[in-house]
Amino acid sequence: MPSRPLTDRFARVHRSLRISIVDKCDLRCTYCMPEDQHFLKREELMTREEIGTIARVFVERYGITRSS
Ligand code: SF4
Repeated sequence: MPSRPLTDRFARVHRSLRISIVDKCDLRCTYCMPEDQHFLKREELMTREEIGTIARVFVERYGITRSS
């Protein structure tokens, strides 16, 4: 049972979670990436286990039911 729902600043409840497993993206939207974006080295990215841990926390604490 989640301890509380995940809400944004408009009090909207969110049930889905998107986790980016790398920091690279070819689209480079200006609101997301600065022009001089410096990408992390592979060893600085989260491991599969760390990503799994984060996903579990969101499911257990915030009631997330979907991911992509
Ligand atoms: S907002 Fe744009 S640049 Fe950022 S991850 Fe999404 S598609 Fe890529």
